[in-house]
Amino acid sequence: MSRSRPTAREKGTVAQRARGCCEYCKSQAAYSPDTFSIEHIVPIARGGSHALANLALSCQGCNNRKFISIEAEDPVNGLIVPLFHPRRDRWGDHFAWNADFTRIVGLTPTGRATVEKLQLNRVGVVNLRRVMLIAGLHPPK
Ligand SMILES: [Zn+2]
Repeated sequence: MSRSRPTAREKGTVAQRARGCCEYCKSQAAYSPDTFSIEHIVPIARGGSHALANLALSCQGCNNRKFISIEAEDPVNGLIVPLFHPRRDRWGDHFAWNADFTRIVGLTPTGRATVEKLQLNRVGVVNLRRVMLIAGLHPPK
């Protein structure tokens, strides 16, 4: 029997598993003005489930931009590729920080498509990373 939404306990598990960071842009919930979302990696509308294996912690900016997408265009070659899947993929396999740790660089077609689709280098997020770096709070461990 499917449930309508994750329980409070499951939400806590997802947030703890993500160490309080957006699983896409690595923003930290503790330093965000907005409450983070428990995101369905494969949206319910596209056949995804409420299982923990389909849930990720996401900031509002990433969640809003991802919406019901599971794939997007790789800006290098124009091919439609899967978006980063926080449960199946490793962040470090698809993304890296640039030299000053303010921007996320896509290393793979999936990484590049996700950077573009979710706009992982939004101006406000980049500015926050810059300030948090000075404060010794970025990048997250
Ligand atoms: Zn995010």
